[in-house]
Amino acid sequence: MSQRLKLEVKALNTIGGHDLVIFVSDKLTPAKLAEDWLGEGAHALLARAAAADKFKGKAFSGMTLLAPDGAGYERLVVIGVGPDGDRDKLDFAKLGGAVASKLGSGRSADVIIALPDAEISAEQAAAIALGLRLRAYVFDRYKTKTREADEADPITVTLRTPDPAALKKALRACEAVAGGVEIARDLVNEPPNVLYPEEFAERAAKLEKLGVEVEILDEKQLKKIGMRALLGVGQGSRRESRVVVMRWNGAKPGAKPVAFVGKGVTFDTGGISLKPGAGMEDMKGDMAGAACVTGLMHALAARKAKVNAIGVIGLVENMPDGNAQRPGDIVTSLSGQTIEIINTDAEGRLVLADVLWYTQDKYKPRFMINLATLTGAILVALAQENAGLFSNDDELSERLAVAGKATGETVWRMPLGAAYDKMIDSKFADMKNSAGRYGGSITAAQFLQRHVNETPWAHLDIAGTGMGSPTSETNRSWGSGWGVRLLDRLVANHYET
Ligand code: MN
Ligand code: ZN
Repeated sequence: MSQRLKLEVKALNTIGGHDLVIFVSDKLTPAKLAEDWLGEGAHALLARAAAADKFKGKAFSGMTLLAPDGAGYERLVVIGVGPDGDRDKLDFAKLGGAVASKLGSGRSADVIIALPDAEISAEQAAAIALGLRLRAYVFDRYKTKTREADEADPITVTLRTPDPAALKKALRACEAVAGGVEIARDLVNEPPNVLYPEEFAERAAKLEKLGVEVEILDEKQLKKIGMRALLGVGQGSRRESRVVVMRWNGAKPGAKPVAFVGKGVTFDTGGISLKPGAGMEDMKGDMAGAACVTGLMHALAARKAKVNAIGVIGLVENMPDGNAQRPGDIVTSLSGQTIEIINTDAEGRLVLADVLWYTQDKYKPRFMINLATLTGAILVALAQENAGLFSNDDELSERLAVAGKATGETVWRMPLGAAYDKMIDSKFADMKNSAGRYGGSITAAQFLQRHVNETPWAHLDIAGTGMGSPTSETNRSWGSGWGVRLLDRLVANHYET
């Protein structure tokens, strides 16, 4: 990606630039601070412009006008924050996204960090900055011709606040999270000829710079450990499979870690159960779970979270080949249980089965959350609004739901149960990897649960949210980086000492 935005924080003393951004309520009243800058006549100017533009100050809406003479700016960008009321309920990241969407051709903008009717905290202001950055993200690494040279330069956005020190401090955590989301988006957007298991592992290894311990397990080691379910998926590919373990030690040594596990199928053709051709290119995103875990580990390390956290990602490529796994094959997973392969396109659960077992067995985590673009069926159930949440633990589920609402990365809990579990019994082995169309997301989750012991566990099916999801105020990218903000918030809310 290219950084299209340079963020700065400054006091209110000096003025001047291309765009001046202010926030107004639905009464079109600007904040006192903004009024001071615009001078007398600000009210009349805004009222006339709003009438001409039918601008009502609705939250996240915007209008642009020529700046008044002597203001020191070319344009005035007015962003609505809606009716007076509980500003704590305002989504400040979304507000930042709205600001970014209105920045024009100028190379600089000043944002007056003040609300018309309430104080704004440093954390809320930092969330605006987060939204600005997330909205400005562009993945254009492979565009050689279409960009104007002018557009390649970053826009400098200066947040103008009476208390720059406080905002700079709050910004550190936000930048860590924004960096994590950007890493996840980059990984999902990369083409599959560039990003294959070994390359993904190399990129994860870059987290060592932040103090993350990174261990890369190659096929020889995976064979020795006994991850035969995972290796079976990758055996049709010329690219070797990898498992990467990332450890961030931000709490006391010996404190039980929290664990995040990601499905990283760098390309999923379906294998011998080949997918139809239309839309297959999207299967480069079948590693969005692993991308999220990698981005999350970046966020936690970059903001020096006081937690011991482990990220484990299973990286394979699922290809048809003379050596590929067949429907009918029976493999023994790391747990010792046998699996009959019914459909080689139900490969993500085979990867996760081994990685989940390995993670709980080796690291004895406080909880284990896995993310996977696991089933198309989750889109049938939930569209692209929520990720599917499956869990053996009510407390963890509740905490995820709360963090989801706070970040806008929402989850919806789906059922698990004995009747569903029975659906994956196999005639020839302990279980089968596919039980047909009905309840397809649930039977996939049941399969995962057969590889989880009493560890509190949650599975997030992100097939609808991790890639190709509808654009939003804070995301214009195909790879959304979904889950980084959610899980960072979960850790911050409950698991830091
Ligand atoms: Mn598949
Ligand atoms: Zn898949």
